[in-house]
This record gives sequence, structure tokens and C-alpha cells, in this order.
Amino acid sequence: MPVVRKADVAVLGAGIVGVSAALHLQARGRDVVVIDRLGRAATETSFGNTGIVQAEAMFPYMFPRKFGEIARAALNRDPRAHMRYGSMLAISPWVWRYFLASAPPARSASGAALRALVTRSIAEHEAFAAPAGSGALLRKGGWIKAYRTERGRQTILADYEEMKPHGVTAETLDRAQLAALEPHLSQVVAGGVHFTAPSTTPDHGALVESYASLFVARGGRLVAGDARSLEASGAGWALTTGEGRLEAREAVIALGAWSSDVLAPLGYRFPLGVKRGYHMHYGAAGNAILNRPVLDAEFGYVLAPMTRGVRLTTGAEFARRDDPPSSAHLDRLEPLARQFFPLAERRDAQPWLGRRPCLPDMLPMIGPAPRHKGLWFDFGHQHLGLTLGPVSGRLLVQMMTGEAPLVDPAPYRAERFG
Ligand SMILES: Cc1cc2nc3c(=O)[nH]c(=O)nc-3n(C[C@H](O)[C@H](O)[C@H](O)COP(=O)(O)OP(=O)(O)OC[C@H]3O[C@@H](n4cnc5c(N)ncnc54)[C@H](O)[C@@H]3O)c2cc1C
Repeated sequence: MPVVRKADVAVLGAGIVGVSAALHLQARGRDVVVIDRLGRAATETSFGNTGIVQAEAMFPYMFPRKFGEIARAALNRDPRAHMRYGSMLAISPWVWRYFLASAPPARSASGAALRALVTRSIAEHEAFAAPAGSGALLRKGGWIKAYRTERGRQTILADYEEMKPHGVTAETLDRAQLAALEPHLSQVVAGGVHFTAPSTTPDHGALVESYASLFVARGGRLVAGDARSLEASGAGWALTTGEGRLEAREAVIALGAWSSDVLAPLGYRFPLGVKRGYHMHYGAAGNAILNRPVLDAEFGYVLAPMTRGVRLTTGAEFARRDDPPSSAHLDRLEPLARQFFPLAERRDAQPWLGRRPCLPDMLPMIGPAPRHKGLWFDFGHQHLGLTLGPVSGRLLVQMMTGEAPLVDPAPYRAERFG
């Protein structure tokens, strides 16, 4: 007889988003199984990001609106983004929707919905990290957006002015003040803005693993399985796992950039795009130290102090999700980063590739599936999955259990895409 296991809820995906939803469900007495390809947490995008809980992110990253900026990006003259020309035709419908959703009124609406979640992000992480024993992986000290030129200064200050009415506090730094905080940044760096509230982590993968270990220690199960085997079964859902067939009354899709692999066979065709991004670790020459993540604003990459060394993370590569990795974007940015901070040797054999799951309005999809009872969505966390994962889990689970939601869930609902 084949083994059949039962659970209240099957959570598909063990990135920050799935693990967070699982912890919130468990806290409400649900028997939860988390399924991921290898039966381990944080093996994809949640493994290698920049590690900032971006409590200052009052507006999402939108598509440029000025013709000159668009042209520069399209011609690969703006190192903040990288276009893979061979992929452009395939991804152009999504890029067009992203462009439309970036019009000023739509951007304002996305910003308001984003802020409702972002402002709770640090407290939600601390509520997991304390019992998980990983408080040391959440650092105080904030992060810095640094500029090289007067134009860069004006852009960063204008962004900060836009954030201020929403309660964001930061310190503006001239060259000397910046050097007092980050003495090894080079002379090309002219100043910056220090966002003091955000937390940062030196190892996002380890942080998510610690949350997953807490889930398991509290009686949850994390098993290997292919989420694409999900099927409606009786009054609930079933799928094939490494431990046999699993049947659950409810299922949560938290598969990040892979969510459409499960949704398309069920008839859902959401405009889920991907902004890819890379990282590489470096040693620091002459024992130079970087104390916190620093954005080189004119060029759109971040250097962040991590357990493995100084991590360079890139902005968005526009390509198909499954295109082979390319080192082109990183190779372009590395010489700029070497001007910025005394990087030494590369420490990874290959750049790591992550896939930011992005809906055109840059808001996640959190809530019930429109046409399937017991099926729930929690994906599309774009550039901010580390920031939003735990609070999204809380909102989702409040909807699943009939509690009063912490914010109006309407902006995140699936029906916004028809
Ligand atoms: C370079 C870079 C820097 C970033 N920096 C930050 C930052 O500083 N702050 C921030 O808030 N966010 C940041 N992000 C964004 C953040 O990393 C993502 O939004 C987040 O990791 C998405 O989490 P997720 O759980 O939705 O997806 P993932 O972490 O990708 O998890 C999805 C899971 O689904 C599993 N899966 C897929 N298909 C199947 C299948 N068929 N069967 C079973 N399992 C499957 C995968 O194995 C994976 O574990 C960054 C992203 C990148 C790329």
C-alpha cells in the first residue's frame, strides 16, 4: 500500500515567503507540511540576496518614465540594469505592463499598499528571530545610499524628501561624515544618506534556515517534493512528496518565480515576470572593513558585508526566468566596485543567480485563489521578499483563519489581474 500522509495545510516553497507562512499557520495550531524540491529551505532567491530588511522602502522600484532613461537602459548604457537582447521579445508583454503600472498614479497606489506592510517588517522578523535563536543574524546599523556626483546627490536627496512624510528617518552625510562611518570607501564617494532603521543580515540563507528549523522544532515537517504534482483531491489537495502522497485540506503557493508552473495548469495566467540578479563575494584588500551595506547609487549595485566576504549584488537583469546565467552584468559592475571599495580576490567560482518574482504593480499576491476553494497565494515579492516575507505570512494566515487582517488585503488580491 502506498503511504498517504495527511496535513491541514501544504505550503509549496521553502523560501522566506513559504517558511514565514508556515510559522504563522503553525502558531494557530495548524498541522503544516512545507514542500520544496530538495526538502531544504532557502535554496533559491532567498539564499543570496543583499540582506536588507528595507524598512525605508516607501515606494516600489518602478520602470523609468523619462525617454532618455528608458533609451539608456534599452541600449545597455545604464549599469543599474542589464538587458539580454535575445530574451526581449519574449518578455516584452510583461515589460509593457510594468511600464504602464509605473505611471505616477499607479506608482502612488502601489506605494501606499507597500507601506502598509513594510512598516511592520522589522517587528515581524524579530518575532521569528528571537525564538529561532538567530537574533545575531539581524543587525542594527542600517544601510547607506552613497553618491559620487552632484547629480547623484540630488537624486538621493529627492528620494529621501519623498520618504520623509511617511516617517522615514535618515542622516545625510558629507564626505567626512561618511568616512567616519565607512572609512575604507574610496575618494570617488562624495557622500550619502544613511537609513538608520533597517535591519541587515550577513547571511540571509542562514536566517531563513533558522526560521525553518524553528518550524521543524515546533513539530512542522519540511519534505522534498515537486510542487507541480499538485492536484485537487476530494475536498482538498494532494501531491507527491519524497515521503509518499500528501493530502491536505488547504494549499499555499509560495513558489516565488516558479509559482506560475503550478498555477498555469490550474488555469491562472498572471503576469508574473522575473528580474534576475547576481552576487559575488570578494575579500577586502589590506584588511579594509565595510560595516554595513552601501549602494553605489549611480551604478545600482550594493556592496554588503557578509559571512563569506564582501558581497556585490547587482540590480535587475531583464531576461527569461530560465535563460542560462551570464556574467555580463557582474563583469560590468566589478570594475566600478573596485573603484568604490578595495575589493580583493573573487571568492565564488561562479556568480550566484537569483530570481526576483515580480508582478507589474510591484505588489505581492496574497490571498485566496479566485476559483479554487482551499487554495491560497503568497508570491510576487519582487525586490523585497526578505522585507515582506514574515508580514505577508501573517496577513495570509489571518485571511485563512478568519481573523481580522492587519491591513486591508484588497490591493494584494489575485482579482486585480482579471
Ligand atoms: C540580487 C538580489 C538582491 C536582493 N536583495 C534583497 C534585499 O536586500 N531585501 C529584500 O527584502 N529582498 C531582496 N531581494 C528579493 C528577495 O530575495 C526575494 O523577493 C525573495 O527571496 C523571494 O522569496 P520567495 O520565498 O518568494 O522565493 P524563493 O526564495 O525563490 O523560494 C521559492 C522556492 O520554491 C521552490 N520551488 C520552485 N519550484 C518548485 C517545485 N516545482 N517544487 C518544489 N519546490 C519548488 C524553490 O526551490 C524555492 O526554494 C533580492 C533579490 C536578489 C535577486
